This record gives sequence, C-alpha cells and structure tokens, in this order.
Amino acid sequence: MTSAPTHHVAIVGTGYVGLTTGAALASLGHRVVCADIDAERIDRLRQGHIPIVEEGLEEMVRAQVSAERLSFASDSAVAVADADLVFLCVPTPSGPDGRSDLRYIKAAGADIREALSIGAVVVNKSTVPVGSTKVVEGVLLRDDISVVSNPEFLREGTALHDFLHPDRIVIGADDRRAAEKVASLYASLDAPVLITDPASAETIKYAANAFLATKISFANAVAAMCEAVGADVADVIAGLGSDHRIGPDFLRPGPGWGGSCLPKDTRALVTIARDYGYDFALVRGVIAVNEEQRHRVVEKIRTATGGVLEGATVAVLGLTFKAHTDDLRDSPSIAVVSDLVDAGAKIRAYDPTVTAPLNRAQQATIGAVASVLQLCDDAYDACAGADAVVVLTEWPEFAALDLDHLAGTVAEGATVIDARNLLSPDAVRAAGLTYNGIGRR
Ligand code: NAD
Repeated sequence: MTSAPTHHVAIVGTGYVGLTTGAALASLGHRVVCADIDAERIDRLRQGHIPIVEEGLEEMVRAQVSAERLSFASDSAVAVADADLVFLCVPTPSGPDGRSDLRYIKAAGADIREALSIGAVVVNKSTVPVGSTKVVEGVLLRDDISVVSNPEFLREGTALHDFLHPDRIVIGADDRRAAEKVASLYASLDAPVLITDPASAETIKYAANAFLATKISFANAVAAMCEAVGADVADVIAGLGSDHRIGPDFLRPGPGWGGSCLPKDTRALVTIARDYGYDFALVRGVIAVNEEQRHRVVEKIRTATGGVLEGATVAVLGLTFKAHTDDLRDSPSIAVVSDLVDAGAKIRAYDPTVTAPLNRAQQATIGAVASVLQLCDDAYDACAGADAVVVLTEWPEFAALDLDHLAGTVAEGATVIDARNLLSPDAVRAAGLTYNGIGRR
C-alpha cells in the first residue's frame, strides 16, 4: 500500500464511471462513499449486487466494502458531508440540438451545495462541455469550494483496468492547490499527470473521443473502398496500422461506433465548436460515415434476403455496442435491428449479457425494439430457420461457433453477414454458407 495521503471521497452518480471510480479509489486506500438518486440501485449495491457487467468490479466492490473503505448512500448530501473531494459522475446526454444536456450536473450540484464541507474540492468527472467548471461554480455559489475538471478515459469492459493503469491523468483547474489535491488521489498510480486550465482539460476529453471515432470511421471508409476495388481490408489495415505513427488500435471496420460516449461526445464537440465560431467539418464527416455504415450493414442483409426484408427471419448475434459489456446505449446493433424491424423482418437475437426478461434500464434504452425482439437462449437457437445471420458484436464466443452445427439450423441458402469481421470466410464457406464481411473477400 502507498504512503500517499488518503482522502475522504464522495461519488455522486454510481453508474459505469462512478462505481468504477469509487471502487478503484477505495482500492488505492481512500475512504469512499458512492451515492445515487436511484435508491433501488443503492439498496442492491448494499446487498452486494453489481448493476453492470464489468470485469473484476464485483470482486473489488466486495473487497473494499469488507475493508470498510467503500460504502453507499442514497442521499448525496449525506455522502458528501465528510468528503474533502467530491466527484460528479452523472450522465451528460445529448440534448435535442446535439449540445450536452447539463441538467443532471446542475441537479447534482444543487443537491450537495449546502452539505459540502468547508474547502472541499468538487471534481467534474462527467464529460462536460467547455465552461462547465464555471457552470458548477454557479450552482454551488460557495467561495470556499474549488471546482476542477478531471475527465475519465476508461473503456467499458476494461473499466477497472483502465482506471488503475491510465495513459495519463488530466486535471484542469484555475486553483493549483485544488488540482494538486486531486492529483494526490492518484499518487500511487504510475501515470503522467497533466495539469492544465479547465477549458483545455474539457477539450482534451472531447478531442480524444472524436479522434477514436475518426479512426473507426476511417477504417469503415477504407473497407468500403476495399469492396469497390476488390482489396482485402484485413491486409490493408494490417499494413496501415503497423506504421507506428498510425497504430493499429481502433482501426477496425465494423457496424459503426456507438455506446454511451462516442456518439454524444462527437455531436457535442461539433456544437461546442460551432458555438465558438468554428465549423468542425472533419468531425461532421466522421459522424456521417458512421451513420452510412449502419445502412451499409442493413443493405448487406437486404441483399442476403433476396432484396426483400418483409417477412424474412434475421438472426442477430450481439446486441451490446461492443463485447464485454451489457451496455445497449446507442448500440449500432440496436440501430440495425430497428431498421430491419421497420422493413418488416423478424428478429431472433442472442447476446450473452442481454437475456429475457430485459431489465428496466435495458428496456428504457432500446425502447420499442424491446417488444419485437425474440431473445434466444444461444447463438444456434437464434439462427434456427434464419434467412440471414448477422454478427453485430465481437463476443469471443461467436468466433468459436461450430459452423457446421450453425449451418444445420439456418434456412437453406442462408448468408452470414459478419459485420465485425470475426469469422474466417473460408470456414463459413466450407460449412456451406455464403459469407459477406466488411471490406473482405
Ligand atoms: P451512468 O448512466 O451509467 O451512471 C450515471 C448515474 O448517475 C446513474 O446511476 C444515475 O442514477 C445517477 N444520477 C443521475 N442524477 C443524479 C443525481 N442528481 N445525484 C446522484 N446520482 C445521479 O453513466 P456513466 O456511463 O457512468 O457516465 C457518467 C459520465 O461519465 C457521463 O458524462 C459520461 O459521458 C462520462 N464517461 C462515461 C464513460 C463510459 O464508458 N461509460 C467513460 C468516460 C466518461
């Protein structure tokens, strides 16, 4: 254990980021109280139920609760009363015009305003637009409180690992002492700390997510070109990504990027830039390529069903926006399913983390699609009688499917649309099925 100073930390908003932050900071020796307005979520956490799928989180929460370093509260004001550092980890969804909706940030600030201990530091860990430290200061109206930006870069699926092994820690503050106090939380981590002004910290987060989205859209655009010219995207990406100036990460063609961050953060970046007089045409293009990619996948499925989706049965393998998570927010899979349903297709779906009956959050996230999905027990069950099979999430178990068994369950002449380029085209063909990947022969 470290000799670095330990702190009393409160987390306001115990979702993917808040629960990971709370458990990880407790594991570094800090005393942490995680609060959420969702009282049922807090009750379940107190009983040891982890509301999200995240590698290692359940064990870490259990260990930190047993060590009495981590506890839960349904009242944020109670949670912050003894804290010298308070993290806001509440949602910042897209508003109707693409701007980040700060209503949860403002509500969380109002909830804790009077309960904050004297001299506490409030940290925006939510992804927030430039100027949000001032927004929070304006809600708190407390001269003794500093507000600091400390954006989070973790990926769902590897959240704990990413939190504890960050490439960098970014802290944006006008008050240097407050920034150093936040930095001291992470003193035992082996990571460079960049202390900057709030606007730069807030911009770093959006720029990072926009760049990652750009890499994926670029790979999808290259894949479309490969299909046109008869090249193989796997080889092209291998040749491209091995250049150390480019790098292989995120250069993966697929059904388009999604999830709770990239869609809303790219939209927010475009609107922030526009508000300050800059037309971020590059990121607008990245978003357009992403939207087009989903349609490309739907068109591949339509072609596979002879041009008519009405009445066709489509087996959908994977519903989450990526593997190793249960998160359905802005999942490209759900967007594709929605288009297929609108066109009259019947959907038989399987995802290892999305099982019937859907929980409240999943139903709320996917809306009307929830009532038309037939959730199946496994991939083979989903494929029973299907005219087309589409792999939409890169779950490792789909790469290990018994293709002969699968070929025995689908309808005669079925095509496999491998929207993640997860399967071997030769193996699929050897099983007697037609293969159609993304930018691949
Ligand atoms: P989430 O929806 O999983 O969790 C947010 C939690 O906040 C919910 O449990 C909700 O009930 C709670 N909440 C809302 N208002 C509250 C209030 N007034 N008081 C207390 N709790 C309240 O969201 P998330 O995915 O953890 O994202 C949180 C923020 O972190 C967002 O700004 C997001 O952009 C950012 N972020 C997310 C990720 C990610 O991978 N999920 C990564 C980096 C940054």
